Amino acid sequence: MSPSSARRRALGAAALAATAALLLGAVTTGSAAAATGRDAAVARARANVARHADLFGYGPGQQLVLKDVVLDPDGTQHVRFDRDYQGLPVVGGDLVVHQDARGRLADSSRAAGHDPAVPTTRPAVPAQRGAAEALRQAPGISGAVSTPELVVWAADGTARLAWRTTVSGTGKQGQPAGRVVVTDATTGAAIDSYDAEHSATGTGHSEYTGDVALATTQQADGGYALIDPVRGHTTRDAHNLSANSVKAGSGTLYTDADDVWGDGRKFSTDRATAAVDAHANTAWTYDYYKNTFGRSGIKNDGKGATVFVHVGTDWDNAQWSDACFCMMTGDGNGGTDPEQVDLDTMGHEMTHGVTSATANLRYSGESGGLNESTSDIFGTMVEWYANNAVDKGDYLFSDQSTPPWLRRFDRPSLDGGSADCWSKKVARLDVHYSSGVGNHWFYLVSEGSGAKTVNGVAYDSPTCNGSTVTGIGNQKAAAIWYRALTVYMTSTTDYKGARAASLNAARDLYGAGSAEYAAVGAAWSAVSVS
Ligand SMILES: [Zn+2]
Repeated sequence: MSPSSARRRALGAAALAATAALLLGAVTTGSAAAATGRDAAVARARANVARHADLFGYGPGQQLVLKDVVLDPDGTQHVRFDRDYQGLPVVGGDLVVHQDARGRLADSSRAAGHDPAVPTTRPAVPAQRGAAEALRQAPGISGAVSTPELVVWAADGTARLAWRTTVSGTGKQGQPAGRVVVTDATTGAAIDSYDAEHSATGTGHSEYTGDVALATTQQADGGYALIDPVRGHTTRDAHNLSANSVKAGSGTLYTDADDVWGDGRKFSTDRATAAVDAHANTAWTYDYYKNTFGRSGIKNDGKGATVFVHVGTDWDNAQWSDACFCMMTGDGNGGTDPEQVDLDTMGHEMTHGVTSATANLRYSGESGGLNESTSDIFGTMVEWYANNAVDKGDYLFSDQSTPPWLRRFDRPSLDGGSADCWSKKVARLDVHYSSGVGNHWFYLVSEGSGAKTVNGVAYDSPTCNGSTVTGIGNQKAAAIWYRALTVYMTSTTDYKGARAASLNAARDLYGAGSAEYAAVGAAWSAVSVS
């Protein structure tokens, strides 16, 4: 099946530079009216904090980081902020601005809020010492990784620079477990230590992958939230806000009383069902990168992203946005395509974040095709990694949410628009079609040319130069591509540059005289990149 005509439409609203979408011609609809009231409240709140700086302890070097907005039925507004100082989170710096319906300051709430103005450069104690202390204080956690973060500790006594280290791993019952240890970054002394929220394991009835375990967090009221305490990502309902309007704190966090989520149906009326897939599949993507390449999250800093489901109205698409450090997925077009939350789609979108944090391939021309291809490649590798009985590893893209598939790797032109072979014309194609050359290369280097059935799916991959290519398996191919992306490619890399980058990567990993190195070159030649 080829993409629908709606998708084939040329990019009307061209993708923003920092936004990379799944499909062509993202049509964004939905009401922005709700956002206006909220945005107005936030703007007034920022002005109120600046005007009443003494009341809020607001001073030079501080930034307000929006956390939440509550609008009462009578119009009263409560705008919650966290606070940064010189770019560092201030623990104990949070505040709430209470305003009347017209945005006039009514009251304020403020955490301990000791003046956060401390010297923030060059902590005397290195991160490793904070991390070592954290591991020492979390003995019950196995397979632990520690993620130190520099913060301003202002929750008691005098504000000071501190390492807040999160130790994440597996507890005694195999559940996700974590502990946070705060140490003084000047003296090394322990300041605080507590369980990293209350890790829980929920059950999700998913749309595409059967019943799945969900990493959730138990909250103070005993209920559960789709906050992954290990990987740090949170899943929110965008309430059909359009993709252009979604910001970091938009919509609402998913919460649930019994930690059993969704009903396992496509086009479900239970809004948590799509969230189950999105939350679980983001975890699979995180784990794929972590366990395959040692990469901790999109920016390799251990931080999770926000995942928004139910974005837009009839929005049959998904995308990554650097601006909100978030993924967004739509509900399909109301016809045959349900929510865009399957394994390879979530892997695809999160990979846009990884690309952005590494080679940052410019999202147009050949580099744009390589950007899209990279997302297709690792999206499909997440499927292989998850090894799910329902959604099996394949060389088809979006095969669950856009059945039977949206794009395919063995012969990309079967979608009606993608290029199988490089030519000068490729640079002028939409990035979702110029990606075909990279996807075709990936199939050839993984599985080789010709007819082959893999996991029950029949493929037949031609070569552009009449050669026969022998594959090296997709694990090695992906390892080569990951190293090429993170070590050698740059924002302007084109297909010729990708050949050089992946050969460098193959040489590093397997040697210049290896069969792997030869296969990489042969597969590029087979897609007319020499
Ligand atoms: Zn994409």
